[in-house]
Amino acid sequence: MRSDGIPAQGRHCETVRSEGIESRLKLVKERIEAAALACGRDPEDVKLVAVSKTVPVDDIRAAIKVGVRTIGENYVQEAQDKIEALRSERVSWHFIGHLQSKKSKYAVKLFDLIHSVDSLKVAKELDKRAGAIAKVQKVLIQVNISGETTKFGIDAEQAVELIRRIAPLENLTICGLMTMPPYFNAPDKVRPYFKALKALQHLIRNEAIANVHMEELSMGMSGDFETAIEEGATIVRIGTAIFGERA
Ligand SMILES: *Cc1c(COP(=O)(O)O)cnc(C)c1O
Repeated sequence: MRSDGIPAQGRHCETVRSEGIESRLKLVKERIEAAALACGRDPEDVKLVAVSKTVPVDDIRAAIKVGVRTIGENYVQEAQDKIEALRSERVSWHFIGHLQSKKSKYAVKLFDLIHSVDSLKVAKELDKRAGAIAKVQKVLIQVNISGETTKFGIDAEQAVELIRRIAPLENLTICGLMTMPPYFNAPDKVRPYFKALKALQHLIRNEAIANVHMEELSMGMSGDFETAIEEGATIVRIGTAIFGERA
């Protein structure tokens, strides 16, 4: 037993796990680069968020050691514990899960970017809480682009109106859009949803709403990120392909 309480056996497993993370991360980065170059984009314009819901702190630390700089979490409480445990690490934390307005107070303290704003109620609460700590909170608007299968996100037809209402809130900055299409095993089946989000981004840009920036498109996960990059993703959110299957 080592001083940190991990038996020698466990230590071996830990090493194997972190080597797995390193090689998977390398592969993901190569695939991002290849996908960007193949469609004439600068790979630097695609940011990687390593999604670590349910992933233990040791694995996140291992990922940081081999170059992960941005981490995405789905649950405020879980994220709070991990951020506390990893507070000496220089990484950026993003919130990608469904946000309840009662968690806004914590969310503004913990996250550099909140991907999942989909109601005026949550936006107002975030604005209030961000103001209280003198922060301008960056957010994305989550759009339910498929209109049915996924539960969260504003419908595409209502997105412009919602953005118009959120835009005047002084302690928030809208940086773009996020979507989570219905899950398909075939990446080409999700392509229309990525195209639709890009089209919506274009439409909102043309509205030229004050205080609204539309540079970010957060779309693409382990099973479909190359397709998302081809369709204009600037942020991909990748869990399984980096950390392995979730327990
Ligand atoms: C879990 C999750 C991801 C990552 O999914 P993987 O398939 O493991 O890459 C991305 N975005 C959101 C919103 C998630 O909840």
